[in-house]
Amino acid sequence: DPYPLHMSGRVISGFGRGSKELGIPTANLPVDDTQTPWISSTPSGVYFGWASIRLPPSHPDSPPPPPPPSQNEATPTPTALPPTNGFTVYPMVMSIGYNPFYKNTVRSAEVHVLHKFHADFYGAEMRLLIAGYVRKELDYSGLEALIADINFDCVVARRSLARDGWAPRGVEVAVEIDG
Ligand code: ADP
Ligand code: MG
Repeated sequence: DPYPLHMSGRVISGFGRGSKELGIPTANLPVDDTQTPWISSTPSGVYFGWASIRLPPSHPDSPPPPPPPSQNEATPTPTALPPTNGFTVYPMVMSIGYNPFYKNTVRSAEVHVLHKFHADFYGAEMRLLIAGYVRKELDYSGLEALIADINFDCVVARRSLARDGWAPRGVEVAVEIDG
C-alpha cells in the first residue's frame, strides 16, 4: 500500500517482554485487520512516522488546556495552528510483526515513541501516520545485538523525519528532531 499508512487505537498491554527495562518501551496497539486492511499484507519489520497521542489530563506530560477565548479584541488569539483536541504529535519508530500466538496470520504493532515520558499511558488514544520503512524483521542470537539495532533504528527514524517534506504541517511537534 502507498505511504503514508494509518492506524489508530488505544494503547494496550503487550507481552511483558521487558522492553521498558531495556530502555525501549513499546506502546502496543490492537491489530484489527478490518479497520486496518493494509496490515495483513505489509512486510514485517521496522517503520517510522508520527504518533499523535491524547494523554489524559492527569498524565504528567499532558499539554496544558487551551486558554479561554480572549475578551480583548485588541489581542486576538493566534489562529495559525488548528485546535489539537488534546493530541500531541511525537516522532516514532515501530515494529509490525507476526505474533506466533496467532498462527502467523495476525500481527502485532508496537510503537517506541521518541520522547521521554514521565509516566505510562496505557489506554491513551494513539493515531499513527507511518511515513516509511526502515528494515525487515530480523532474528537475533543475543539481546545486545537486538538493542544495538533498535537504537540505530531510532537514529534512522529521526534522520528520516527531519528531512524536508516529512514534518507534519499545521501542528506543533513535541520535541526537536535531531540526532
Ligand atoms: P508492554 O509489554 O505492556 O507493551 P513495555 O515494556 O513495552 O510493556 O512498555 C510499554 C508502555 O510504556 C507503553 O504502553 C506506555 O504506556 C509506556 N511508555 C513510556 N514511555 C514510552 C515511550 N517512549 N514509547 C512507548 N511507550 C512508552
Ligand atoms: Mg510493548
